Amino acid sequence: MNGKIRLGISSCLLGGKVRYDGGHKLDHFLRDTLGNYVDWVPVCPEVEMGLSVPREAMRLVGTPAYPRLKTIRTGKDYTDRMLKWAKKRLNEIEKEDLCGFVFKSRSPSSGMKAVKVYDESGVPRYKGTGIFAGAFMERFPLLPAEDEGRLNDPVLRENFIERIFVYQRWKDFLKSTGSIAQLITFHTKHKLLILSHSTKHYSILGRLVADAKRYKTDEIRTYYLTYLMEGLRLTATIRKNTNVLQHMMGYFKDRLTADEKQELSEIFEKYHAGFVPLIVPLTLLTHYVRKFDEPYLKGQYYLMPHPAELMLRNHV
Ligand code: SF4
Repeated sequence: MNGKIRLGISSCLLGGKVRYDGGHKLDHFLRDTLGNYVDWVPVCPEVEMGLSVPREAMRLVGTPAYPRLKTIRTGKDYTDRMLKWAKKRLNEIEKEDLCGFVFKSRSPSSGMKAVKVYDESGVPRYKGTGIFAGAFMERFPLLPAEDEGRLNDPVLRENFIERIFVYQRWKDFLKSTGSIAQLITFHTKHKLLILSHSTKHYSILGRLVADAKRYKTDEIRTYYLTYLMEGLRLTATIRKNTNVLQHMMGYFKDRLTADEKQELSEIFEKYHAGFVPLIVPLTLLTHYVRKFDEPYLKGQYYLMPHPAELMLRNHV
């Protein structure tokens, strides 16, 4: 991997005192743990478009499909100003080489999901997207995006962090030759990771790579990345992971003693039943991958999709 991952983030999550009330929403995991692997690019849409700190609080009003960004007390409408600013800022962000974005949940500007949108009678529906977050996701639909609230869920956290590391490796691939031969290598090393998210996308991507010569280089890269990111957005469940673990075991099953086979099967069962986290069967499998020096498995990012220090697989 070439250097730290660059991620956009809502400024208040890094402790910037940019909120309407002059406060912040510092997220310790993001700043102090994930921050060790990330160069953050902070963005505060409301302040960067010229509003002061403190300022009047805002909310979304109208329908979830066409929300307006308005101040709560005086009803001043900032939608057009925000969209105009966002268009310019997104052009700058495009050059920032980002691998993803962490948005502030529930914000009418920065929230990416389930933001309150008030109808004419003042009744909220939790179906909106913040104005800036919406513009960002429309412009960069394949970039991994999450909000800090959802990242408290261990499964969603692991999923997002896995995706940003895959995206970084994809960028590294594009920066090198980006050739078809390299695409095949990239795909081969990600096969089991993809399988742990979606058998459907595993098949689609496999076929795409096998037929790579039928496409122009730009075309195949676009198709590949689109299906890759679509597949990885689906969470890796215990059932899907168990399928991958058994698939891996198949590579050296014949070389295990009856006792070793029994031990592995018991650990898979414990994982399947939810008694131990994924790291437990994976640690034992990794031991055998090394012992038998299995080249295909040794190259799989599934065994190490992100730094072990983040301990993400101790909780899924
Ligand atoms: S939620 Fe977004 S707009 Fe609001 S303070 Fe944080 S970064 Fe600024």
